[in-house]
Amino acid sequence: MHLGNYLGAVKGFLELEKTGKYETVYCVVDVHSITTPYDKNALAKNKREIIIDYLAAGLDPKKSIIIYQSDIPEHIELAFYFSTVETIARMMHLPTYKEKVKQHPNANTMALLNYPILMAADILIYKAGLVPVGIDQEPHLEVAREIARKMNQQYGTNFPEPVRFATKGEYIPSLTGEGKMSKTVANSFINLTDSLEEIRKKIRSVPTATTAGGEMSPGLKSLFTFANLFLPAVTDRYKKEYNDGTLQFVKIKDAIAEAILAELKPFQERRAKIATDKKYVDGVIRDGADRARKIARETVREVKEKMGLI
Ligand code: AMP
Repeated sequence: MHLGNYLGAVKGFLELEKTGKYETVYCVVDVHSITTPYDKNALAKNKREIIIDYLAAGLDPKKSIIIYQSDIPEHIELAFYFSTVETIARMMHLPTYKEKVKQHPNANTMALLNYPILMAADILIYKAGLVPVGIDQEPHLEVAREIARKMNQQYGTNFPEPVRFATKGEYIPSLTGEGKMSKTVANSFINLTDSLEEIRKKIRSVPTATTAGGEMSPGLKSLFTFANLFLPAVTDRYKKEYNDGTLQFVKIKDAIAEAILAELKPFQERRAKIATDKKYVDGVIRDGADRARKIARETVREVKEKMGLI
């Protein structure tokens, strides 16, 4: 995972889990990952790394159900039933779909078009009301709400209309100064396992102007987003220095890099331990699948009944 995933999604996972008010289900969406070209030799390893990331970030498998999407085939079955209430035109107009087609013009597949429908199934199969995801996922959540409404109207199901559970880091900008931090954009992201040297090098590479003062460049705006998140107590002082023309960019950059590492250090230490405990990680995955399947099976049974399939 990169810092955008952590701040935009996983921090929300943790917050919701901590309230103790909800049943929480968190999913590594391996089936979604095959909707664009991918390295099949790396997938099994990478998806496990994300489970380890979740655990290292502090998710408690006793409280939350943690799963691989593909372990619960009912997600895919439900997505097919949901696809009966969505039109092809609606799916083709989604900004995320258009972006992906631009990135992979030779892989404009049915799986890609179905991405938001599968996401709706991931959410609604657990009748989830709150979804901790970054702001980039808002159009997909709108689709999930639409599907819930249509299913309820047409078939009399009782799906909730899920809403996004937003975090302070709901939009983490790219280190390039353009767009969002993303694994698929080179030089845009910080990995959660990066060392201080790596983080410093990456933050130093954020494009800034040569002099302070005046309208901020996109890179500088990104830098101040990081300052707000990681150095909230001194951000105003940096802003004033910028306006006064006295801000030294390398100083603010290095301070941000150190603050990011300070936040990531406990994560990295926990991660190193968990990664070596194969039995524990396997147990979490197995137990999560068992618990999730019970809920998922029941929802699919209900839907099949309402749709006249059984
Ligand atoms: P992805 O990496 O696109 O599979 O996204 C996984 C989760 O991380 C989703 O909830 C996204 O909304 C969230 N996410 C990804 N990139 C960012 C970002 N730059 N800022 C905030 N959240 C993000």
